[in-house]
Amino acid sequence: MTHFVEVILPLNLANSFSYRISEREASFIQPGHRVTVPFGKTSVYTGIALETHKEHPRGYRVKDIEEILDVEPIVTEQQLELWKWIADYYMCSLGMVMKASLPSTLLLESENYLQYNPEVVLDYDDLKPREAELLAIMESKGTLQVRQAARLMQRKSVLKLVARLVDLGAISTLQVVKEKYKVKVQKYVMLDPHYSDEDNLSNLLEQLSKGAHKQRDLLMHLFTLSARTQGPVRSSMLLKEAKAGRGSLDKLVQMGVVVEQEIEVDRIAAYGKQPKSVKALSKAQSEALEQIEEGFKELKPVLLHGITGSGKTEIYVELIKRTFAKGKSALYLLPEIALTTQLIERLKVYFADQVLVYHSKMSLQERTEMYYRMLNPPGDKPTVLMGARSCVLLPIRDLGLIIVDEEHEASYKQFDPAPRYNARDTAVVLATQRKVPIVLGSATPAIETYHAARQGRYKLVELLERFNDAQHPEVKLINLKKAHFKKQMKGNLSQELIDAMEREFIQGKQVLILQNRRGFAPLLECNTCGNASECPNCDVGLTYHKFSQHLRCHYCGYSISRPIYCAVCHSTDLDAKGVGTQQIEQEVQKLFPDRKIARMDLDTTRGKHNYQRLITGVERGEIDCLVGTQMLAKGLDFKNVTLVGVINADQMLFFPDFRATERSFQLLTQVSGRAGRAQDLGEVLIQTYNPDHPVLQEVKTLDYARMFQREMREREQYAYPPFTRMIRVELKHMDYDITKKAADWIATGLRNGLSDDVIGPAQPGISRVRNRFVWQVVIKLSRKRNQKASKFLIRRLIKSFEAVGMFKKVRQSVDVDAY
Ligand code: ADP
Ligand code: ZN
Ligand code: ZN
Repeated sequence: MTHFVEVILPLNLANSFSYRISEREASFIQPGHRVTVPFGKTSVYTGIALETHKEHPRGYRVKDIEEILDVEPIVTEQQLELWKWIADYYMCSLGMVMKASLPSTLLLESENYLQYNPEVVLDYDDLKPREAELLAIMESKGTLQVRQAARLMQRKSVLKLVARLVDLGAISTLQVVKEKYKVKVQKYVMLDPHYSDEDNLSNLLEQLSKGAHKQRDLLMHLFTLSARTQGPVRSSMLLKEAKAGRGSLDKLVQMGVVVEQEIEVDRIAAYGKQPKSVKALSKAQSEALEQIEEGFKELKPVLLHGITGSGKTEIYVELIKRTFAKGKSALYLLPEIALTTQLIERLKVYFADQVLVYHSKMSLQERTEMYYRMLNPPGDKPTVLMGARSCVLLPIRDLGLIIVDEEHEASYKQFDPAPRYNARDTAVVLATQRKVPIVLGSATPAIETYHAARQGRYKLVELLERFNDAQHPEVKLINLKKAHFKKQMKGNLSQELIDAMEREFIQGKQVLILQNRRGFAPLLECNTCGNASECPNCDVGLTYHKFSQHLRCHYCGYSISRPIYCAVCHSTDLDAKGVGTQQIEQEVQKLFPDRKIARMDLDTTRGKHNYQRLITGVERGEIDCLVGTQMLAKGLDFKNVTLVGVINADQMLFFPDFRATERSFQLLTQVSGRAGRAQDLGEVLIQTYNPDHPVLQEVKTLDYARMFQREMREREQYAYPPFTRMIRVELKHMDYDITKKAADWIATGLRNGLSDDVIGPAQPGISRVRNRFVWQVVIKLSRKRNQKASKFLIRRLIKSFEAVGMFKKVRQSVDVDAY
């Protein structure tokens, strides 16, 4: 009897591939084991075993696997179950989900390059002969491709040996070397634990007073500083404060009074600190918490709709505490990790080293270590794993709670490459599969989520007052049309905004200025009234294509040539250029030459530390005014900011996307929420040409419910989600005509099965990317249609598409629940 194993390979083809295995292997292999297998003429891949069986695959010659890499599976059955759902729902292969889930070191291939690591010295006697042979080869060659190593060793595959030496740190894949992570360490001083006893300490001080004045002085400074930092003190800082020399400190160390130790900078926040006990919740918070627990009992996902500053985070903290008490761990998803260091620090105050963070800025080696740690947690303390969307794919033992913070954020959706999954929705599925409670939290829930709550699929919990009676800031709209007319503009700022800024600065307060320009979709705006044309069929802004001098809709393809004058006010002053944050920063600096103005956008926040520096700058009062993009709105908690200004709300409102008005509401509400978070009443000034626009009125009155109802009416009328499910098929090729033909072919094929649910083909806002033309077909899949059957139809159509000769080189991708 022959045995076979289905293996997931890192390819966007079939879900799994069949290989032959021996009887012995069949009795050993479990789902989640890594195996290495030959593929194509010469390649060797690492894959994950999905299942074993005895059915001979038809139609091709089956090859043998080469080796099994693991003793224990490295992917859990629970992960595999979730992966299958993702591949099925988001219409991609299991291989692509696997690639998104595992650090690439775990998936070595024959094409990978290896590098010898001279810093790790292994004893050859501890190695198996083959491992020693490979190590010797690596030592002499330095770098080498896996396949070359195999040739030198005259073996078909050496991946298992490689994996072992990589685990031992003696060699690494070249990628690891490239991004090699230098752990930043600094020296810190702490009092020797012996002297935490009061008697010992007073004896010591007495002794020092008798002659060692320098040491006594140094020690006193150490006390003051550690009171300030609430933890260990940097040696350099201590010496500077005490104006002492290195020698005096060395003496203290020799005397055993203090300990000096190197600590990784990233770890210092959690080091040596006693976790603080969590804050007592207010009455409103406790009530919300009890409702959340009720939702858990009903086994429903909970939507926590709590306005900015209502204290959602403190509720999460309490939920995590309760989960820990049951000995279970928590998963805490955040939109973008770089933007949320402030939040992670906040949680570390309570949970210290029980907080784990996983993100893309970590080196590959660190991510690999973290993966193994999740798989086999050391110690028995439960943990809370914080991170961005890919964390939902990790193995989490004893999961007892999932939190999706700022659930409305678009960054939960992956754009490219596949799997194009939404981590929030995936988390809801994970919660169902593992029977774990889940909370989705936001001050401005996504329309889809709120809709689910209204329908009773989710439990709705509302917290509509700020903590501690803090008032929600007052929102005022500044009419730009009038301001221009009365000549009250200085560049892009109205006199009213300038006066307000001046007022706050004089009182020692800080100001945030939002200039949100999402660069990619150019609009043609009227400089007189702010109007931008919209598509009559789709209710979205039209994109300006400068080259062809046309305005186009990127959903349905509707197109008109560039108008001569504005349809609303007939002004001929139409313009396509938007203003960037840098220009606004310069304007503000000119208006307030004595104030410290800084800018927060993609350019100024490259690298984790730059972002942190800006935040610390505001926290410490070193920055008077921060000008920035939507980054400013992301959950920051600054106590001294009392004014938020928005340069131009219209650019967001007319953005060519059916979610533009929802997004504008979210962004403006979130950024408003940054003002007046402590005692002082905050103020928000929004400049606009359209002060009567319903969304701006809703922001002003903080009326989420009204925004929701209006938005739902429009979504229904134009058949957008949540009334339909939006699937986008995208086609890319160097040749314009072939791309267009491919799009027509797909659109026609789709119409045969899905009739008028199909829109397009059309060109997107950016119609050419890296020399490739882009066309897309959008499906607004009616809720009445059977979802599985429709997806089956789309899959089958794409299979036949791939078989058409002239479309061989056309790249296609499918995006389910496209944004
Ligand atoms: P949200 O996340 O809903 O915007 P936060 O959790 O950031 O709100 O709370 C706003 C502010 O109020 C924070 O500074 C927070 O520390 C404080 N706060 C909230 N709840 C409490 C509480 N129960 N006790 C003390 N301070 C609280
Ligand atoms: Zn106009
Ligand atoms: Zn249209």
